[in-house]
Amino acid sequence: MTRGVGEEIIEQLFSDSKAGAAGSATAMTEQETMFRSTMEAAQVGIFVLQNQRFKYVNPFLVGMFGYSAEELLDQMGPLDLILPEQHAFVIEQMQLRAAGVLGHNYELTGLRKDGSTLPVMVLGSPSVIGGLPASVGTVLDISAQKAAEQRIRELADYDVLTGLPNRRLLRERFEQLLAAAEREKSEIAVIFLDLDHFKRVNDSLGHSVGDELLCEVARRLDSVVRRIDTLARLGGDEFIFAMPGFHTAAAVEVARRLVEVFSRPFEVAGHELTVTPSLGISIYPHDGRDLETLLRNADTAMYRAKEMGRNAFQFYSSEMNTTTLDRLLMESNLRRALVQNEFILHYQPLVNLETGLIIGVEALIRWLHPELGLIMPDRFIHVAEETGLINPIGDWVLCEACRQAKAWCDAGLPPICMAVNVAPVQFRQAGFVEMVAGALATSGLDASRLELELTERTVMHDADINMGTLSALHRMGVELSLDDFGTGYSSLAYLKRFPVGKLKIDRSFVNDLETDPDDWAIASTIVSMGRSLRMTVLAEGVEKVEQLALLRKMGCDMAQGYYFSRPMSADGMADMLRLQPFINR
Ligand code: C2E
Ligand code: MG
Ligand code: MG
Repeated sequence: MTRGVGEEIIEQLFSDSKAGAAGSATAMTEQETMFRSTMEAAQVGIFVLQNQRFKYVNPFLVGMFGYSAEELLDQMGPLDLILPEQHAFVIEQMQLRAAGVLGHNYELTGLRKDGSTLPVMVLGSPSVIGGLPASVGTVLDISAQKAAEQRIRELADYDVLTGLPNRRLLRERFEQLLAAAEREKSEIAVIFLDLDHFKRVNDSLGHSVGDELLCEVARRLDSVVRRIDTLARLGGDEFIFAMPGFHTAAAVEVARRLVEVFSRPFEVAGHELTVTPSLGISIYPHDGRDLETLLRNADTAMYRAKEMGRNAFQFYSSEMNTTTLDRLLMESNLRRALVQNEFILHYQPLVNLETGLIIGVEALIRWLHPELGLIMPDRFIHVAEETGLINPIGDWVLCEACRQAKAWCDAGLPPICMAVNVAPVQFRQAGFVEMVAGALATSGLDASRLELELTERTVMHDADINMGTLSALHRMGVELSLDDFGTGYSSLAYLKRFPVGKLKIDRSFVNDLETDPDDWAIASTIVSMGRSLRMTVLAEGVEKVEQLALLRKMGCDMAQGYYFSRPMSADGMADMLRLQPFINR
């Protein structure tokens, strides 16, 4: 065995016994050898300390901290190997050992030569070496144990799939939120979010895709919440938000943002997946004073949101729904409106850019509410769509628009095309083609004078099924146009297959046409694409003469917008048709 550093101390340790046992020197040497090899083979750090300096360190301890034995012995002490914050404690322990007081295990944070740290467990015991007080100790590297503890804590508190807090941690944090809310007399919103038809993803694409989707959803949701909020996953496709300091109006805002999160599709394992959420909201203290009650009520509200057509949120308390937008009330109001003839149509001219002639009008619905006055379609069309009321309302629009167009015709006004918006649900309902044929027959309007405006989404959704309906309408002689063009995701190859005669460039691209080069590029691309497909291109939302000039230069065929006229009543429109005020403009 080579004579290592710190050998003197070992010799000293044995010197007393050697002296006392003269004559058995060989046995002693054997004992000493055994002792040395034990020290060197030990898988714990072992040290001897005197005057707060290392007098002996075994190889394992040397390996633990990265210093050589030469650097450690006589030069360094425990304080050099421990985080400064813990020095006071270590000094106290060393003094106790020196005074002969027995110690027990304690955990410290070791400091390696390279500056990195490691958790260690130290046990020192008092001793006397060479007649002077000393201490002998062991050092255990407990990194693995610490990591396991951490992992256990994570498993206990966090959802393994998404890494979000689980029900246990949610409950723990909620207790703290409750205490603060009670003190500050503030509110807490509890939002229950459940994905619509998530099972379909699992069933059709497999669980691993489903899992990945959940992780993506978790990541997006997590980016919306504030640091003080808790977003937890309760398992499956259920997520919970606990948001302190939220009153009803703020909760509406956040619920909207959460629904928004799902407006873009998720890219998972090469699939583009569109999922929608349903949300239920309960508010502390109004809807409950403990987590269980609040969760139960938020869950109830979430189911109501699902019943109302999904991709929506609902408050648990009905009065909160009323204050935001009571869909139920809205629905019964809409039904009544239909029966009591509260809907009217306004018309907006569609102008040929070459001649300035009004060659068509778009029929736009308004709700003339007896108390609230004129309500614009953006406020009620989506409710009508979600409740299916869009079908009878749409039928009414179609009949009324056809009747009006025929009446203008009969009054000798210049011939125009009547453009009517068709909602996706309406287009897909059984018997839609017959319904259109009926409206034409009843009014006596020529089919070529009717144009149906469909959005890209309507057409592209189940394109093959829609193809049949589109072809049937086309054969009848009805014109078809694609509304809000550019906001959907039409593939050019598909577009060519559809008997669509007109593209309406969405007004979001026309808005900043003069200032935004991207909008200009999109608009001019749509114009040239439309031309190459032999379609008419119309620009929506033209408000300024500068926009008009640019559109003309691109070769856009038609325009519509406030620059020419706002939508107006049937009488106003009749006058305008007679006057044709845009010729030469
Ligand atoms: P849309 O089909 O894209 O109709 C054009 C909308 O742009 C109309 O809003 C019109 O008033 C507005 N608009 C026209 N020119 C300008 C302009 O220069 N600047 C600005 N800022 N806006 C302009 P409106 O009447 O509020 O209708 C909104 C949407 O509601 C329509 O968009 C359409 O999607 C839907 N809608 C309207 N009537 C019906 C209907 O009878 N049935 C269905 N299903 N949807 C309808
Ligand atoms: Mg339209
Ligand atoms: Mg439009």
